[in-house]
Amino acid sequence: MQTANSPDTAEMSAAGGRIQRSNSLAENVYEAIFAQLMALKIAPGSRITVDNLVKELDVSHTPIREALGRLEGEGLVLKTHLIGYRAAPQITRRRFDELYEMRLLLEPHAAAKAAAAMDEAKLNTLLAAAGVMSRREGKDDRLRYSNFARQDAIFHDKIMEFSENELIRQTLSHQHTHFHIFRLMYHSRVTEEALDEHEAILAAFGSADPGAAQEAMRVHIEHSRDRLLPAFD
Ligand SMILES: [Zn+2]
Repeated sequence: MQTANSPDTAEMSAAGGRIQRSNSLAENVYEAIFAQLMALKIAPGSRITVDNLVKELDVSHTPIREALGRLEGEGLVLKTHLIGYRAAPQITRRRFDELYEMRLLLEPHAAAKAAAAMDEAKLNTLLAAAGVMSRREGKDDRLRYSNFARQDAIFHDKIMEFSENELIRQTLSHQHTHFHIFRLMYHSRVTEEALDEHEAILAAFGSADPGAAQEAMRVHIEHSRDRLLPAFD
C-alpha cells in the first residue's frame, strides 16, 4: 500500500477534527472516504462534493482531492469533466455473474498451482495476510469492514502471485473485484463466514495439497457469490 507523504499535517485543526493526528493526513483522509464508500455511507452512484467532505472531515481541499484521485484509480470513484466526482455505481447483476464465472474459472486453478509451489515463506505470507482479517481492530465496524475488503483483496492477490501466472493475477486485479463485491452488502456475515473458508484454504496450503486447495477455493468463491446474491433481490 503506497503512502502519500505530504506536509498536510500542518493543516490539522487545532481543535482536533474528525481525522486523528498521524504521520500522513492524506492517508487518513483516504481511509475515511474509502470506509464511507465501502460501508455505503456514500451511496453508489451518488455525487461526492469536495466542499462537503472538507467540512465533514475538517481538512483542506488538497488531501480530499488527492484521496478522490486515488479512489478513482481503484474504480470506486468516477470523475466527469466539469461535473465532478461521484461514487461508482453498484455493479449490475449481469456483471456480478460474469465476475464470479471468471473467478471460478481462474482462482481454484491458481490456488492448486500455488499449493504445488508452496513453501514456508509463502505460507507465512498467506497466514499473515489472513491473520490481519481476523483481528477485531477498534470498535468502528465501518472501518473494520472496509479493512476486511482490502485485506481479502490482498490475500487473494498473494495466492495469484504464488500461482505464477502474472496475466491471471493482473486480469483479476484490474477488476477491483473485492471493492465492488463488498460494497454490495454491508453485513458482518459477509466477513465472518469468509474467515472459516480462508482457514480451509490455508489448511490445504499448509499440507501443500493442490487438489484440496482447488476445492477449498471453489467452495469459498461459490459461498461468497451465494452470500452476496440477496443484494440483487
Ligand atoms: Zn476471500
